[in-house]
Amino acid sequence: MSERIFLSRPDITELEEQAVLAAVRSGWAAPAGPEIDAFEQEMAERIGVSYAVALSSGTAALHLGLLTLGVKPGDIVVTSTMTFAATANAITYTRATPYFVDSDPVTGNMDPQLLHEALSELTEQGTPAAAVVPVDLLGKTADYTQLEPICEEFDVPILADAAESLGATHNGRPAGSFGKAAVLSFNGNKIMTTSGGGMLLTDEGDFAQHVRYLSTQARQPVVHYEHTDIGYNYRMSNVLAALGRAQLSRLDEMIERRRCWRDRYRDFVAEIPGVDIFGGTDEEDNCWLTSIIIDPSTSNLSADTLQAGLQDANIESRPLWKPMHLQPVFSGQPGKITGASQRQFESGLTLPSGSEMSESQFELITNALSRIVEQFGL
Ligand SMILES: *Cc1c(COP(=O)(O)O)cnc(C)c1O
Repeated sequence: MSERIFLSRPDITELEEQAVLAAVRSGWAAPAGPEIDAFEQEMAERIGVSYAVALSSGTAALHLGLLTLGVKPGDIVVTSTMTFAATANAITYTRATPYFVDSDPVTGNMDPQLLHEALSELTEQGTPAAAVVPVDLLGKTADYTQLEPICEEFDVPILADAAESLGATHNGRPAGSFGKAAVLSFNGNKIMTTSGGGMLLTDEGDFAQHVRYLSTQARQPVVHYEHTDIGYNYRMSNVLAALGRAQLSRLDEMIERRRCWRDRYRDFVAEIPGVDIFGGTDEEDNCWLTSIIIDPSTSNLSADTLQAGLQDANIESRPLWKPMHLQPVFSGQPGKITGASQRQFESGLTLPSGSEMSESQFELITNALSRIVEQFGL
């Protein structure tokens, strides 16, 4: 059997190898150093924000972003139910309660109408939301054109979870530039990686400074290490920042490659009745992952059978994120649920989309898909 084809593997070239080697040899093998400063500056420029703080993970960036917004135990933080658990986990680290808002039926992103209802009800109940954390699903930004005025109306700050959308835009504005602050992830499967890492982006100097302070154990600026707050060890390593800079220099080419797979999957599924590319139009997406959605009324082909068939061909695929309101660990949490995300979870399947994937691997995938759908007479 041929080598396993993964959903999205790190795309590492000699450029990255050289950058890491140089950083190690420079002596700055620490969570401080010139690569971190340069990485922050280059990313801030790319996104068009004033400040960037490099951290050990996207989850850490969410956590410190929430703390810096002043989120405290007992608060309610509204977020998308269709997300990776990290978003909801970070909310619980602050001992706030996550409140889950269901998906737009097409994009899977937070449904603005439902957000409006949620914020109205929470305000009426005397428990206004402390923050809203919209998630940019699979490389498409949330609909900030609608979300921003709603949050303004209720005077609730936005912390944008842009972990999946680096390189995407919304009405021409880069992902990561929305909200009071935004969060990126450089985990191994993301569109670019530092093997593990994250970043907080903001236009506010005080905000960035507070995140930086909390990320380095909240030390007061005196020689004897005075502490007046609980801090965290969340800073990015200088060696990993070097890896990040090399990846950032290749980001556009990696996005192009993923977009190419998206276009070809789109052509491929156009021939299959009842199967579509998930998410609607994609001109502004970074095409991080390509998912298909299967209309359950047109055939008895299901996402599960397709997943199992691909697995037999040693090809990785996986459902969309299982919504947070369906997760045992978050059961009983409040929310505005319509069932849209559950339908997407049950009928969606994410296909290998990595920028490191080869032409021959892509052909193996489409051949396997053809064989499976033929069995269903499609
Ligand atoms: C990956 C991801 C995160 C977490 O980032 P890490 O760097 O893995 O901690 C947060 N939110 C979303 C939506 C993600 O996809």
